[in-house]
Amino acid sequence: MKKTAFVTGGSRGIGRAIVLRLAAEGYAVGINYLRSQDAAETLAGEVRAQGGRALAVRADVADREAITAAIRSAEAVLGPIEVLINNAGIAQNDLFQDTPERLWRRMFAVHADGAFHTIQAVLPHMLHEKRGSIVNISSIWGLRGAACEVAYAASKAAVIGLTRSLAMELAPSHIRVNCVAPGVIETDMVKSLGPETLVELTDQTPAGRLGRPEDVAGAVAFLVQDGADFITGQVLTVDGGFIL
Ligand code: NDP
Repeated sequence: MKKTAFVTGGSRGIGRAIVLRLAAEGYAVGINYLRSQDAAETLAGEVRAQGGRALAVRADVADREAITAAIRSAEAVLGPIEVLINNAGIAQNDLFQDTPERLWRRMFAVHADGAFHTIQAVLPHMLHEKRGSIVNISSIWGLRGAACEVAYAASKAAVIGLTRSLAMELAPSHIRVNCVAPGVIETDMVKSLGPETLVELTDQTPAGRLGRPEDVAGAVAFLVQDGADFITGQVLTVDGGFIL
């Protein structure tokens, strides 16, 4: 029987590509979304049309009760989750001094608390089975830091700290926890930066192009495969050499 994966923020962008990649590899996929119901339902339909199994479930990852209930609904239909991808995310662009407290708290609520909620929801089954793989999507800014995105970068750094620490704690239980740190990937999140900035960012990328959601999905698929069984606590950068 194929495994079940759960992808937060699976309705658009990188999460959507991860859903399609894991479904193509035979996973049943729970697709979490917050606002983009049509996109999430259409994606689930696309997976099913290709012979796969998928279910779209709405929840704010920052809301512990809601995301736990969404995970339980997905498990009831697709089976217990053995692969969890914490991808849901939001961006910001403010000077630190102008960052409202609610935005600071929301960044940590979605990125750090979100991962805390989903991991605690899936861990009991993983611990019982002594198997499982978790991939948290951080960012190169979480590694390097970023001006005008201090709350974003700090919350993404928290995700890296969570990943490394939890990897140490769970390795004896054969549960792996890794991180993918994307560079600039062409999704709605970066389109708002405007064409000029995107050209500048492309020029700063040694690979000479921006990343595609599929580039990140490939890294996730690599980390969750059984062949990567001895890899845990790692941060895999997918940035075309941007922060080298
Ligand atoms: P998009 O803005 O394109 O998509 C964001 C996704 O996250 C959507 O599916 C959205 O769902 C979901 N989402 C947002 N907030 C919540 C929430 N509270 N609960 C549940 N789902 C939520 O972003 P990307 O695809 O670009 O980003 C995906 C991840 O990759 C994020 O964590 C981001 O920080 C990270 N990343 C992206 C980079 C990039 O250049 N694009 C670079 C580095 C990291 P919905 O539409 O249904 O509300």
